[in-house]
Amino acid sequence: MMHCSIVIVGGGPVGLSLALRLAHQGKDVTLIDQGLDKRSDGRVLALAISSQQFLAQLNAWPHNLVTAIDCVEISHRGLGISQITAESVGLTHLGYTVRYSDVCQAALDQVSQNDRIRLINAEVIRVNDGMEYATVFYRDEANSDQIITTDLLIMAEGGKLLNDYPKKIKHDYQQMALVAEIKTAEPNNGKAYERFAGSGPLVLLPFNDNFVMVWSLPTAQAQQLQSDESSLVELLNGEFTNRLGGVKFLSKPVCFPLRLTQIKKRVFKRMILIGNSAQVVHPVSAQGLNLGLRDVQVLSGILAKNKKIELTDICVFDQLRDKDASAVINFTHFLATKLESKNKIIGHLRGAGIIALSNMPPVQNFVARSLIFGI
Ligand SMILES: Cc1cc2nc3c(=O)[nH]c(=O)nc-3n(C[C@H](O)[C@H](O)[C@H](O)COP(=O)(O)OP(=O)(O)OC[C@H]3O[C@@H](n4cnc5c(N)ncnc54)[C@H](O)[C@@H]3O)c2cc1C
Repeated sequence: MMHCSIVIVGGGPVGLSLALRLAHQGKDVTLIDQGLDKRSDGRVLALAISSQQFLAQLNAWPHNLVTAIDCVEISHRGLGISQITAESVGLTHLGYTVRYSDVCQAALDQVSQNDRIRLINAEVIRVNDGMEYATVFYRDEANSDQIITTDLLIMAEGGKLLNDYPKKIKHDYQQMALVAEIKTAEPNNGKAYERFAGSGPLVLLPFNDNFVMVWSLPTAQAQQLQSDESSLVELLNGEFTNRLGGVKFLSKPVCFPLRLTQIKKRVFKRMILIGNSAQVVHPVSAQGLNLGLRDVQVLSGILAKNKKIELTDICVFDQLRDKDASAVINFTHFLATKLESKNKIIGHLRGAGIIALSNMPPVQNFVARSLIFGI
C-alpha cells in the first residue's frame, strides 16, 4: 500500500489549481481524476478578475482564449435596469469569460509538467477518514483495485462521491440551465446581461464576438426547447434578444441540472472538502468556480504555515470559508428564486431593488466587490 503526504481527489479547475499552488510551496501532491479530458463540456464560465489573477499566478490562465467583461446589465421586464461597470468599481475589467475546458486544460498542462505532482488517471470508489491517516480506494486504468493512505485528503470531486454527506442547505430548483453559443445582430461590446423576465433567469455572457446564453428554465421546458430550435429562438427574442437585433444559434443547446447544496462541515479528521464538493450554486450569479478558487487560496494559505500537516492548523478552514460561501449562496438563491417570482408585490419590490441598486453606487459597489473579491 502506498502512503502520500497529500492526496487530492478531483482534477477539475479547483483540484488542479490547488495541486499547482501546493507544489509551488514545495509540497508533494498526488492528484486522482477519472476524466481529465474536458473537451466535451460546453460550459463557458464568467470569472471575476480576482480568479483570473490567481490562475495567472499559477500560469494556468489561457490568455488567448478569453473575453473581457466590462459591464453587467441587470434588468427585468418593465421595472428596472441596473448597470455595473468596471470603471464604477475602479477596475480595468469586471472579469472574463472562458471555456471550462480551456481553464482545465491550461491548469492540466502545468500540472503535467510539475515534478512534485503525481497524476493518477483513475476512478475513486470510496474514501475513509481517520485520526492517523485517510484512505483512498480507487480502480486504476487496468481495472484493478488500489489503495493509498494519506496525511491529508482533499476532496475536489464536485460533490458526486460524497453526495450523501450531511448538508446545511439542499435545494432542487427543478430547473435546467440551457447553454448555447448565440449571435445577435448587435455586437456584445464587452457587456453581460442578466434578465429576469418571468420564465427563468437568463444570462448572456460576451464570448469572442458573440454571446453564451445560460437560461435557467423549468426542467421539462428546457428539455423541450433543447430539441426545438425555432421555438427557442422565438421565445428568446420575445424575452430579450429582440432588443439586440434578434438571435441566431451557433451551437446546439446543452442542458445542465441545477441545484443548491452546502455541506454541513468542510473539515473532518484528515479530510477537507473544497469547491463544488463543499457547495454547488445556481449559475445565475456566475459564482461557483469563483468561490471554489477562494477555497483554494485560503486552504493553501493555511497549509503554507507548516511543512507537516497539523490537524490544529486545518481545523480553522471551515470558519474561514463559511462567511464568504454563505453570503454568495444566499445572494445567488435570492436571484434564482425571488427575482423570478410571479407575485405582483414581489415583482414591484424586486423592481424597486434593481432601481435602488442602480441609484445607490455604494450598494452597487459593495455587491460588485463582494462578488469579485469575496467577503
Ligand atoms: C451551466 C453552468 C454554468 C456555470 N457558470 C459559472 C460561471 O459563470 N462562473 C463560475 O464561477 N462558475 C460557474 N459554474 C460553476 C462551475 O462550473 C463549478 O463551480 C466548477 O466547475 C467547480 O469546480 P470543481 O473543480 O470544484 O468541480 P468540477 O468542475 O465538478 O470537477 C470535479 C472533478 O472531479 C472528477 N471526479 C468526480 N468524481 C470522481 C471520482 N469518483 N474519481 C475520480 N475523479 C472524480 C471529475 O472528473 C472532475 O474532473 C457554472 C456551472 C454550470 C453547470
